[in-house]
Amino acid sequence: VLSVEDLRIDFAGRSVVQDLGFTVNAGETVAVVGESGSGKSVTALSILRLLPSTARMTGAIRLDGRDILSLSESQMREVRGGQVSMIFQEPMTSLNPVLPVGFQVKEALRYHSRGNDRECEAEALRLFDRVRIPDAKRRFNQHPHTFSGGMRQRVMIAMALACRPKLLIADEPTTALDVTVQAQILDLLRELQRETGTAILFITHDMGVVAQISDRVLVMRNGRLVEDGTAEAVFAAPEHPYTQMLLAAVP
Ligand code: ATP
Ligand code: MG
Repeated sequence: VLSVEDLRIDFAGRSVVQDLGFTVNAGETVAVVGESGSGKSVTALSILRLLPSTARMTGAIRLDGRDILSLSESQMREVRGGQVSMIFQEPMTSLNPVLPVGFQVKEALRYHSRGNDRECEAEALRLFDRVRIPDAKRRFNQHPHTFSGGMRQRVMIAMALACRPKLLIADEPTTALDVTVQAQILDLLRELQRETGTAILFITHDMGVVAQISDRVLVMRNGRLVEDGTAEAVFAAPEHPYTQMLLAAVP
């Protein structure tokens, strides 16, 4: 689904990502871990070309073989709405506070031409059920501030699913949540992945989360990839000293 080749990202001459190469195959969950500032979010944003114009990117980022670095802005909008969706740490930043949540999911569906108004409303409600928002019919018409963090993240997952993406990029989606809610969201993502086959690129700094969700693990350090292997291999026998250190810190 995704192949990143020799990616390099500079901000005003300062290199924040170098020699980065990895792939995400269909249906796979790939975790990206690394300490703060190691370049995880910059890499995620680069895949959707959402970095500010001060960023300079070289290399290739292929989605189904097509290098997105060579696409026009309008082609890029199609990619963002179709092939790839993204969820972030703080869902409030992506939800409009003055509109009912159900309306926002319905509008996302409308935007992606998933049918007329009535059909999209029905589909949005179905997505609410699917991400297990309790009392979905009533919650549908309420505003984001009436939702807990975990429920807001469920709304964002519903929104992401509305695009029927091949790849879902999740940038620390559970970091702002308490541990029980975190586990529920991870379960939900895993379940949705089994059903839909969507590949997930899951960014986190929490090795415990990695163990729960990933097929493969990438470890970044100072903008470079220092480890790339199956979850079993990385947990059983990490190759890089930095990964060994990360794992040693897990209780
Ligand atoms: P965290 O775990 O804290 O989210 P991260 O691994 O996601 O960290 P990034 O946000 O990718 O880290 O940042 C990587 C580097 O790029 C940092 O040194 C950061 O200061 C720099 N950086 C990120 N965005 C910009 C920007 N818009 N302009 C200049 N530098 C930036
Ligand atoms: Mg980040």
